[in-house]
Amino acid sequence: MVKPLVAGNWKMNGSRDAVDTLVAEVAAGLAADRAIDCEVLVCPPSVYLERTIAACGEAIAVGAQNAEWRDAGAFTGEIALDMIRDCGARYVLVGHSERREYYGETDEVVASKMAACISKGLRPILCVGEKLVERTAGQARAVIERQVAAVADRLGDVLFAQADIAYEPVWAIGTGETASPQQANEAHGWIRNLAGSAASDLRILYGGSVNAGNAAELLQEDNLDGALVGGASLKSAGFLTICKAASGA
Ligand code: PEP
Repeated sequence: MVKPLVAGNWKMNGSRDAVDTLVAEVAAGLAADRAIDCEVLVCPPSVYLERTIAACGEAIAVGAQNAEWRDAGAFTGEIALDMIRDCGARYVLVGHSERREYYGETDEVVASKMAACISKGLRPILCVGEKLVERTAGQARAVIERQVAAVADRLGDVLFAQADIAYEPVWAIGTGETASPQQANEAHGWIRNLAGSAASDLRILYGGSVNAGNAAELLQEDNLDGALVGGASLKSAGFLTICKAASGA
């Protein structure tokens, strides 16, 4: 059985003070509660990566929300994977729907980023998920399978062995509306099915308006191995409750 992961995506929120306060509260909560037995990750804005890593210590892993796949050079405003690793981060979110939607990231770019992360020794979390119009049209499975296949075609089984996958239905991100536990479990099953012999080792997170009130019901589903949490990761108490739910406590 894989160790569950709860990842907080802070998006473009925070300040130096907010980072210090949030990390201190989460770290204290983890230290105080032995029932929490999952891996915990936070993904701050990149300018706060080093500060967050220094504050997190060993108990909380730190990841970047995005990265450039090319090594170095004339890519103004971009951040290289070597720089992210140099700061001490271990994870990178790749293909978040906000990156796909607002910054035009295609399946091909996402595949390049996934390949580059793995070659640099960083663990990527591949985000996939359908839009509402696609779900309504009965295309959810095809969309998810296309997004995963775009990466699996490039990386082969390495995708399933050296990355995590987050199922994040676009209609549930930041909307307050979650997939039902059954919908999430079904979609995770479609993804797991693609992993063949690596299926039981693949960690699949659910993301989309997870909060302290709905985490336990979602995370009790067999195919859910943790959560990718946006808004609710910005407040320590709720985030810790989600960590506890992922630990089966
Ligand atoms: C996310 O940003 O990946 C996310 C799931 O956001 P939220 O929890 O706010 O829906």
